[in-house]
Amino acid sequence: MTGLRDAPAVAAARYEMVVGLEVHVQLRTHTKAFCSCDATYGAPPNVNTCPVCLALPGALPALNREAVHLAMRAALALGCTVNDVSVFARKNYFYPDLPKGYQISQYDRPLALAGRLEIGDGDAARTVGITRVHMEEDAGKSIHDRYPGATAIDLNRAGIPLIEIVSEPDMRSSTEAVAYLAALKQILEYIDVSDVNMEEGSLRVDANVSARRRGATALGTKTEVKNMNSFSGVQRALDAEFQRQCVLLDRGERVEQQTMLWDGARDEVRPARSKEASHDYRYFPEPDLPPLVLERPWIDEVRAELPELPRARRARFGRDYGLAAADIAVLTASPALAEYFESAAKLHRDPKAAANWVMGEVLAALNATNESIRSFRITPAALARLLDLVRDGTVSHSAAKRVFALMVETGEPADRVAEREGLVQVRDADELTRWVDEVLAEHPAEAGRFRAGETKLLGVLVGMVMKKSKGRADPRRVNQLLSERAGG
Ligand SMILES: [Zn+2]
Repeated sequence: MTGLRDAPAVAAARYEMVVGLEVHVQLRTHTKAFCSCDATYGAPPNVNTCPVCLALPGALPALNREAVHLAMRAALALGCTVNDVSVFARKNYFYPDLPKGYQISQYDRPLALAGRLEIGDGDAARTVGITRVHMEEDAGKSIHDRYPGATAIDLNRAGIPLIEIVSEPDMRSSTEAVAYLAALKQILEYIDVSDVNMEEGSLRVDANVSARRRGATALGTKTEVKNMNSFSGVQRALDAEFQRQCVLLDRGERVEQQTMLWDGARDEVRPARSKEASHDYRYFPEPDLPPLVLERPWIDEVRAELPELPRARRARFGRDYGLAAADIAVLTASPALAEYFESAAKLHRDPKAAANWVMGEVLAALNATNESIRSFRITPAALARLLDLVRDGTVSHSAAKRVFALMVETGEPADRVAEREGLVQVRDADELTRWVDEVLAEHPAEAGRFRAGETKLLGVLVGMVMKKSKGRADPRRVNQLLSERAGG
């Protein structure tokens, strides 16, 4: 097989994708990494700047302790070893939105090394090595669409603290790469170090991709793919770049080591301009900052204060609540949702019912309004109270859904809504008997066949009684009453 005339997909079948990811994460600090400027997103352009982040002569950086704290928290959550001493370095390159002409980063002595991240569950579980986690600062932002023919520079972002999380080339498909990103994003959310919002740029992904013949062990020449700003963008960019490399290799050509940019609109990767691809950064230790020395007790303290991480929480939800893996995955998707479910489950003491309501009505209500669970009007206690009313038969299951919708609308408690809307279930024997007798009288043919032993008509008759009562009759009692009629 020469492969020359093969479709790209056929060529790809003979090769294996090898992917390592570099993820930049904006840390959720109040101030910037090396000055006291406000780090809040969304301020008017260039408001959050000072001599340090504008690189005015004589301004000296001072390291933000909170940034170190959050960076350590992330490194420890990823199982890394935090170095007692790490060193800041200058990464020199010229760029319009980088006023200093260099970025303060870490190079040969980074904050942390050698962690791991588990992706997938059960048989599909794999471990991806984390090479390193280092601290650095963000650059500013070039804005190309504000003034015709000119580029505007916003330096609010210059100096925002970042961590870069570099993985080993352990992933073998674009799907695994996305699974890694999803698992990483979830951990960062659980430990609350970042907004992890890809659209706002607080989580940015670059990928190193290479292709090698299936069965080969040596790594092929890699390219770096940048500019992917969504999970689906990562998936499509990796597939496109892998396919491009496979076709080259199959023709006996070489893959050139270069930086590629993903163009989501055209669904293609193309080489970056040579300036962007230049990797000659001439690193040297930052003379204005001393080595970062971390005392062991502080590292231990940060490790000890880590919350329960997603994997541990999924395992515990399985043990404590006996829920199915797919349900657990939904309920633990975000720490806030997991906490909401858990509070409701504890108060109501029926985890399965709580789980069903949270996954059903609660998520539907949130999706409908694009709201976050953190600001959701119905507290776990209010939901638990509604579920209590369903369990003790005060409201029927279908009436409870109506009560829930009104609770979302008004913020009122379940009891008041059910009472006012006449949704409290009728269990009064006299009233139920009257409805049953009316239905039997109005449908003599069905009533006769039912009395003669045609038991499958029970459901039909219960339905008629429910309709007559406008859904307020307790279906269990109606069932009983009708069965008694059939027997008597
Ligand atoms: Zn500043």
